[in-house]
Amino acid sequence: MKKINGVIILLLLSVVTFAQQISEKRIREVMKEAYNKYKAPQGGANANYIPYLADVNSNLYGIAVCLPNGKVLELGDTKYEFGIESISKVFVLALAMQERGQKAIEDSIGVNATGMPFNSVLAIELEPARAVNPLVNAGAMATNSFVPAASGAEKWTKIDNIFAKFAGRRLPVIEKLYASETATNQHNRAIAWLLYSYGRFYDNVDVSVDLYTKACSYGTTARDLAVMAGTLANRGVNPLTREKVINSEYCPKILATMLTEGLYDETGDWIYHTGIPGKSGVGGGVIAVSPGKMAIAVFSPPLDKSGNSIKAMYTIKYMVDKLGLNLLEAK
Ligand code: GLU
Repeated sequence: MKKINGVIILLLLSVVTFAQQISEKRIREVMKEAYNKYKAPQGGANANYIPYLADVNSNLYGIAVCLPNGKVLELGDTKYEFGIESISKVFVLALAMQERGQKAIEDSIGVNATGMPFNSVLAIELEPARAVNPLVNAGAMATNSFVPAASGAEKWTKIDNIFAKFAGRRLPVIEKLYASETATNQHNRAIAWLLYSYGRFYDNVDVSVDLYTKACSYGTTARDLAVMAGTLANRGVNPLTREKVINSEYCPKILATMLTEGLYDETGDWIYHTGIPGKSGVGGGVIAVSPGKMAIAVFSPPLDKSGNSIKAMYTIKYMVDKLGLNLLEAK
């Protein structure tokens, strides 16, 4: 009798587990539906304040999904290397948190939403403690300055190593993009100096802005970004390499900053429609994380006025809806 009870319990458990997992077949179907629905132009324009980005082919479109078992499902232009841009902020934050701890980030950078554009100076001026979320330009440069290192070269090695661990391969810097951004990043330098004047910058300003710019210039594919985001979905363990990249307890904290600031001043709308953390970059990439289930990365260069890829947002919203990934829904 005991044996039979055990078998029944095992059967029930496997039914429950099976019910929670979304089949690979279903994910592929939904990817295809989204791809066909949105493959035609959906409006918007490439970022043009960084000249390199203006010249990227606007019709490129790729979707990648990374599952906790290490499978990566791909559709469309998932092998094209584009500028990671602001999505890099998530992974430099992961490095800073890993090295300094969560409390230090809260105290020295800030974690609240700014509700303002990604490069806002006002966001710093209006906040009495000068706290800025690590996912806007000001907070991201401050976070970069907060990574402990004896020199710029040592800091870059730390950044390069952790990005390689997140992606499961060493990422290239797109030198043309890096040069293009360096020639046009005066506004970012002004923001960094402003933070410095308030005692909220923690390393040499020029070095930190340069390393921030360099990290924004990493070339990543939609596939890379799915794996990087998949590591955050998978308790800090890279689903491909099985390497532990960051402490699991930091994942929900990093995802929380994505929930509050991942799509800049459009984050509220994003959460309202999707209920999952996302992060965009002006290179046209958007990542979204469904903890324990999957990560989605979409690439399409044309952006809306807030700097978010229009097709990528549509695609992810569609997939979240069809696959039931909204975290705010009772399951
Ligand atoms: N490197 C870009 C900047 O600093 C990143 C902006 C973004 O992707 O939102 O302006």
